[in-house]
Amino acid sequence: MKVLRKFIIVFSGLLLLLTITTGCEKKQKTDLLQAIKSRGKIIAGVRYDTKPFGFINEKQDVKGFDVDLCKELARRILGDENAVEFQQVTSSNRIFSITSGTVDFAAATMTITPKRQKIIDFSIPYYIAGQAIMVPKDSSIKSIRDLSEKKIIVVLGSTSEKNIRRVFPKAAVLGFRTYTDAFSALKNGRGDVLTTDDTIIYGFIAENPDFIMLEERLTREPYGLGFKKGIEIRSLKEAVNLALRTMIEDGTLVNLEKKWTNDLGKINEN
Ligand code: GLU
Repeated sequence: MKVLRKFIIVFSGLLLLLTITTGCEKKQKTDLLQAIKSRGKIIAGVRYDTKPFGFINEKQDVKGFDVDLCKELARRILGDENAVEFQQVTSSNRIFSITSGTVDFAAATMTITPKRQKIIDFSIPYYIAGQAIMVPKDSSIKSIRDLSEKKIIVVLGSTSEKNIRRVFPKAAVLGFRTYTDAFSALKNGRGDVLTTDDTIIYGFIAENPDFIMLEERLTREPYGLGFKKGIEIRSLKEAVNLALRTMIEDGTLVNLEKKWTNDLGKINEN
């Protein structure tokens, strides 16, 4: 009995200590918005391979819709559109870049999905894309229905990859890490089609007139900025959502859409 009582006392003591220390840890977690304000810049994950949303121009500058969006957020949150540092992310590593805290958020052609929402948080949607199919101009493939036993090129970690594997389980899926590599594979005839968002396909066909996009869309892809989950991220997410809502009301978001996606075939690079 004595031993049991001793054990209970020691065990409860340990439990109390654990509760106190984890409680302290929670309190110590710095609010990310405050941390950003004291460091004086946002660290944003963007794409380098998804023109016109995120790409590197001839001068080696990072440009695009998502890039401009981050600059506008930096202007509205920190008062300076240059108070943002960009880090490259891909379809397959962006969630890890967010959860590991490498970036404060990612603006990376990322669709808001229930599955992703289990791991990360999203802002309100800021753009609605749709999954589409790109083929060489002389391809016999005219419709999504023709894809069932074809070789389909995708980028790993994209919703397009998941959707196509689900809808066409018999198709051979060829996965790449970046859209640059995926498009090279299509050009070299390694696959019959490339599937991704219409936004990204616009970027390729604008510069490669030997390729076209089929009219049908497989899905609706609402883009959101991705954040790490947690109480310390809340005020940053709220500030971003407030800025996005204001950008919707004052026309800034529509202007960004016009600048980067309206004039198809003539993507603005400045
Ligand atoms: N928007 C889709 C996604 O979030 C496809 C584009 C991409 O690979 O980023 O997966």
